[in-house]
Amino acid sequence: MQGHGKGGWRSIVAAPDEKPRVTLSLLKRVLKYATPYRKLMLATLFIILIHTGVTILTPLIMRDLIDRTIPNKDIHRLILLALALLFIPAANGGLNVLQRQLTARIGEGVIYDLRVALYAALQRMSLRFFTNTRVGELMSRLNNDVIGAQNAISNTIVGIITDIIQAVVVLSVMLGLEWRLTLISVAILPLFIIATHQMGNRLRDIARRQMEVNAQMNALMGETLNIGGALLVKLFGRSIFEVDRFRQRAESVRDMGVRRAFMGSIFITLIGLLTAVGTSLVYGLGGYFVILGQFTVGTIVALGAYLGSLYSSLQSLANAPVEFSTSMVSFERVFEVIDLPVDIEEKPEAIDLQDVRGEITFENVTFVYEIGDEYLLSDVRRYGSVDNVTTVLSGPVETDQTEASASHSQARGNALENISFCVEPGQLVALVGPSGAGKTTMTYLIPRLYDPISGTIRLDGIDLKDIRLESLSRQIGMVTQETYLFHDTIRTNLQYARLSATQQEMEEACRVANIHHFINELPDGYSTVVGERGYRLSGGEKQRLALARVILKDPRILVLDEATSNLDSESEQLIQEALKRVMAMRTSIVIAHRLSTILAADQILVVDRGQIVEHGNHEQLLHQRGLYAHLYKTQFRREMTGE
Ligand code: ADP
Repeated sequence: MQGHGKGGWRSIVAAPDEKPRVTLSLLKRVLKYATPYRKLMLATLFIILIHTGVTILTPLIMRDLIDRTIPNKDIHRLILLALALLFIPAANGGLNVLQRQLTARIGEGVIYDLRVALYAALQRMSLRFFTNTRVGELMSRLNNDVIGAQNAISNTIVGIITDIIQAVVVLSVMLGLEWRLTLISVAILPLFIIATHQMGNRLRDIARRQMEVNAQMNALMGETLNIGGALLVKLFGRSIFEVDRFRQRAESVRDMGVRRAFMGSIFITLIGLLTAVGTSLVYGLGGYFVILGQFTVGTIVALGAYLGSLYSSLQSLANAPVEFSTSMVSFERVFEVIDLPVDIEEKPEAIDLQDVRGEITFENVTFVYEIGDEYLLSDVRRYGSVDNVTTVLSGPVETDQTEASASHSQARGNALENISFCVEPGQLVALVGPSGAGKTTMTYLIPRLYDPISGTIRLDGIDLKDIRLESLSRQIGMVTQETYLFHDTIRTNLQYARLSATQQEMEEACRVANIHHFINELPDGYSTVVGERGYRLSGGEKQRLALARVILKDPRILVLDEATSNLDSESEQLIQEALKRVMAMRTSIVIAHRLSTILAADQILVVDRGQIVEHGNHEQLLHQRGLYAHLYKTQFRREMTGE
């Protein structure tokens, strides 16, 4: 969804820079996530220090062996040194295990904190956010980015610290051993750093591209492999087309993988060559000095060994800024979600509703779906629809204006405009109107799934915005056309409405909803698993289960979208009976598709193009000979004569 043209919306945020910028504030924020692990981090640092100290000993022992112990035929010293050569790696191994354990605890801890914060942030998001965000995108933030962030802390930061310590210590020892040769071997460093940096940049770009193409491939899988998508593909016979589309994306993934491997190997080769220059210098020049009798053989051997470890730390350090900033991208992406403004806000002084009468008033309510992009993730804009199905399939878009009930298009700027009405406690209000008129939208505003852009909605005279969200949701029971059930038992699905509900209460609710007998006849009764991969309920059964769930919740206000699909007359009757019982004593707002509901309604609101165009009871409205009379003739009466 793009920014709305009408003034006032904040401009679309520019796509994030290709090169990640590590700002001080970002860094501070990341460090805040690391603070709870201060002690563990200090312990890690301590271990790194010991580890470096122990590692540094081996070349010195070699030197002693070559220069002193062996020439002096000192057996006692030889045994000691040989034992040291055994114990040093053993100690190192132990320290390594300990260090890994600590860094894992820090890293996993950060993952945990970030994940929970992210999930909690997502739970605060409005419906608008979810209708505009692909699930795959969110999963990717919860998984990949959080792991990337963990990597930043447990590998990158720890790695940088280790390398700095190692480089400093090794360099000092080398300078102490033989400063001239050390300076010569360090002379190639600038070359080294430039090469590493350049290659690192390139590798990072490839890695980033690889992440993008991977995300696109995953998005395609997500869209076509869920039940809805798979069904669509089959019904339109698009399997081959989808395989093609997948092939294209998988090709990009493959090509990027190959490029990354290629660049990686070139990088390693280059570094190897540069290291060889250093090594050859040390041994060549060093050997010359040995021949001249200025150094001992042991010194050169030790220097050669140190050189390897020096180069490897410096190589990592040269790469560190790039790696670090790349890891920071993950943090940025996670923070982006956490920072999204909450669209439906709860005032700090919001009140808890106690005894609700159930009076609902709409006062000049106007609403649009499109609002500023600041409520959406950047990727929603970034990926746009570049190679979506539409661009492949796009043809002239024809709008179907031949709908029987509406002779004119429902397309308009505001989804709702200037809606005012009042529902007395206990009344039944029927919303009637052509498809797209805004009926569902009106019902969405009552539990504050969206907020109007102007006007006020009140419950018992209190502005909805002054009511605590949880308390508002407790008062409202909503049965939508599409009933969502978790992949779990019927019992658990029912208990979602009231966690403390007893079996007896559930059975009572199900009796009222006319679904108890059906459930009882299922092989596992209330323990039957339903939902996505469970037992498939029919439309009517699902609706009755949804009704039972709402009955269990026992709200003062019932918002209901009557099923449009044609149910068989038995289901139909069961639902009608159930509804009658549920609506009694409650304020009910029903998007009515059935004549019986309309006839029973205290008020009928006729909605067209986002406005209430007629208002009254059945008799009054028929006399007006307006849209209602037209709808009645074309839709509802048919239902009556059909009976
Ligand atoms: P009805 O329930 O009367 O059929 P709706 O309330 O569902 O109509 O839709 C009213 C208008 O709002 C329609 O023009 C529809 O296209 C638009 N609309 C519905 N949902 C969204 C959404 N999530 N984003 C943007 N526009 C929407």
